Amino acid sequence: MTTIACNVDLIEALTPTVNRVVLTPTQPCSFVSGQYLQLCLSDSDKRPFSIASTPAQSQLELHIGGSVADQYASQALAHLMQQHQLQQPVQAEIGLGNAQFRADSQRPLILLAGGTGFSYIYSIAQTIAAAKLDRPVFMYWGVREHSSLYHNSVMQQWAAQNSKYRFIPVVQQPDDSWQGRTGMVHHAVLEDFVSLEAYDIYVAGPFAMAGVVRDAFIEQGAHREHMFADAFAYI
Ligand SMILES: Cc1cc2nc3c(=O)[nH]c(=O)nc-3n(C[C@H](O)[C@H](O)[C@H](O)COP(=O)(O)OP(=O)(O)OC[C@H]3O[C@@H](n4cnc5c(N)ncnc54)[C@H](O)[C@@H]3O)c2cc1C
Repeated sequence: MTTIACNVDLIEALTPTVNRVVLTPTQPCSFVSGQYLQLCLSDSDKRPFSIASTPAQSQLELHIGGSVADQYASQALAHLMQQHQLQQPVQAEIGLGNAQFRADSQRPLILLAGGTGFSYIYSIAQTIAAAKLDRPVFMYWGVREHSSLYHNSVMQQWAAQNSKYRFIPVVQQPDDSWQGRTGMVHHAVLEDFVSLEAYDIYVAGPFAMAGVVRDAFIEQGAHREHMFADAFAYI
């Protein structure tokens, strides 16, 4: 882990409550897909955000927010906007976490995101596609409302690259226009797989979701040592 000054190049809305932030590190930094950074608001206030970009990209991308506006995200965004306006860098501790992508495994994959947990899964999905990995990959993204699927078309294109990749968006509170899966995202996985024993499973989302997923998936055969989520360390 290294603390690096990063210039704030871009802040743009992905939805009314989620923003995309692009940072340019002022020195080389190292991380693995699936790791997170801590944005330093002060010496004692450091907030984790998954890195949505991949190590092959020169800039760091973050997706900050959630289904409801909260201080965790809004205070981080306020700091980023202030530094952007002042043309001053932010400080970030980069390359944190133990739930990074394990490229050496040969097991099929389930990538499970709830809300802005998408950021973590997006980095892993891009790395898989760039490496042309030929393992079955089932990418589930659960959101409360259809309009929160801000990268729906990007992920549909990702899935179209390889017949072994599947993208399954799941909307919890659908309106009449939604034609796809509905309900809680982990229920969709439990419905689709009789056993989860064979899979490497990567999970990110609200802490409450991570706890429910861990217990329910182990009940359905998943091995704890093949389940990866940094949220597990917090719950
Ligand atoms: C290491 C780490 C990295 C983080 N990275 C980010 C980041 O990159 N960006 C960020 O903004 N925040 C991040 N956070 C903070 C926090 O995880 C997010 O704020 C949170 O995931 C936002 O959830 P949401 O509001 O988008 O999801 P919600 O809209 O609350 O939920 C989305 C979906 O998740 C499922 N779900 C939700 N609750 C439950 C439940 N109780 N049981 C079962 N399923 C449920 C449902 O399918 C639901 O539709 C991070 C935290 C940590 C510790």
